[in-house]
Amino acid sequence: MKGKQYAVIGLGRFGSSLASELVSLGFEVLGIDKDEESVDQMSEKLTHAVVADATDEEVVRSLGLRNFDCAIVAIGDDIQASILAAILLKELGVKMVVAKALSELHGKVLEKIGVDRVIFPERDMGVRVANQLASPNLLDYIELSHDYTIAELAVPKRLSGSTLEDLNPRARFGCSVVAINKKGGVIIAPTASDRVEERDIMVVIGTNEQVESFEHEVN
Ligand code: ADP
Repeated sequence: MKGKQYAVIGLGRFGSSLASELVSLGFEVLGIDKDEESVDQMSEKLTHAVVADATDEEVVRSLGLRNFDCAIVAIGDDIQASILAAILLKELGVKMVVAKALSELHGKVLEKIGVDRVIFPERDMGVRVANQLASPNLLDYIELSHDYTIAELAVPKRLSGSTLEDLNPRARFGCSVVAINKKGGVIIAPTASDRVEERDIMVVIGTNEQVESFEHEVN
């Protein structure tokens, strides 16, 4: 099967990190930046890297981006350039266009012009780090929707040896432990008699409030 092809437009800190990671994951990546030095720095790491202005319609057409599976607009603080590049990519018919927004308003504009996924790296990372600092045992989480979350909670020493029946998160908080990640392997859909040990990771699903109450118990 042919590997997926990604185009990353703007090879600043965010774009170059994203592009390198996509290469490590085994994908073909074309990096585009109008700045020659940024392109030179990345040319060894990426499948292709070209100097081009992503707001120039002729140039963008000539790059054949239409055939890519996904294009990510990672242009930093030039909001006008980010919006123009995103419009051109949508017009070209790129299957999936992702764009980084600097502000809520920038994000709204990107959504209005049909960008498939708008990301707010700084805002989201700030929220994530704050949550992790507030609850050191909260290792990671995914917001399934506005109301529901899946979280990874590390088991503290205090609770080591407890069964899920002892912890009883469903009756006490309303959330469920859907997996326990142990050194020796993962228990999927654990039962009431399964035990957690210090440093095991519980994967918990529930509403934000339910998961948060269980998180307090675990911390
Ligand atoms: P970061 O915060 O991710 O480091 P930067 O603003 O430093 O973001 O980087 C954005 C990159 O986008 C820069 O390397 C810049 O040259 C590039 N860029 C800006 N405008 C365009 C454009 N019109 N076409 C291509 N690349 C662009």
